[in-house]
Amino acid sequence: MHMNRNVAIVLAAGKGKRMNADRPKQYLLLDGKPILYYSLKTIEESFIDRIILVTSADEIEYCRKEIVEKYGLQKVTSIVAGGKERYHSVWNGICQVEDCDYLFIHDGARPFLTQDILDDAYRCVKEYDACVAAVPVKDTIKQVDGSGRVTFTPRRSTLYQMQTPQTFRFSLIKDAYEGLIRQEEDLKKKGIAITDDAMAVETITSHDVRISEGAYTNMKITTPEDIWIAESLIKSIKN
Ligand code: C5P
Repeated sequence: MHMNRNVAIVLAAGKGKRMNADRPKQYLLLDGKPILYYSLKTIEESFIDRIILVTSADEIEYCRKEIVEKYGLQKVTSIVAGGKERYHSVWNGICQVEDCDYLFIHDGARPFLTQDILDDAYRCVKEYDACVAAVPVKDTIKQVDGSGRVTFTPRRSTLYQMQTPQTFRFSLIKDAYEGLIRQEEDLKKKGIAITDDAMAVETITSHDVRISEGAYTNMKITTPEDIWIAESLIKSIKN
């Protein structure tokens, strides 16, 4: 049987509450096409063999007709419903994968993914088995307590902003997520919120996670001003 070496999970099941729009952010239009289309297209044109798209149950039909069929995205072989938290959505995607070598997990809300970012993630995961696209932070970051008092300033040169793709040897990420789902209640009690895939690996396994090269343009569209930035970015990329 032919095994897919590289599989991508593209996440689009978030509600996008911080956007204050009537549709989830990944479906807002950017230069006439849904935000979600752009990263799917980049992955379609890459070395990745298969894409699993995770969306909310009531957007599955829209995604199938208005994105996958409309733009002829042949690598999207499954569209499945996500869950309450991002990690539930990832887990639902993982359950669609029988086996593969490497799993690339990408936020559908990051339309400016490039072949260079994917290539560097691939280079990195082949060496280290767990890696996250990232960029150095530009601002000083401080830890602040509940009353707004600054409690700690980590050295800026040690801080990176995590992006996606987050890429893993499949067996490693599958085991990490299995453990995470099993220990979910425990982690909740401890107040640990799992906000990215690397955190699943860090929390559940002792495996090191490495940084691959992200890009400042590989932004996540989250709040209304991100749309303005994305509109002008897309224009400059096209020209
Ligand atoms: O909420 P956040 O900005 O971290 O979401 C990152 C990505 O994860 C987005 O593409 C969003 O659609 C997806 N997501 C998801 N299921 C959730 C929450 C977020 O697929 N329950």
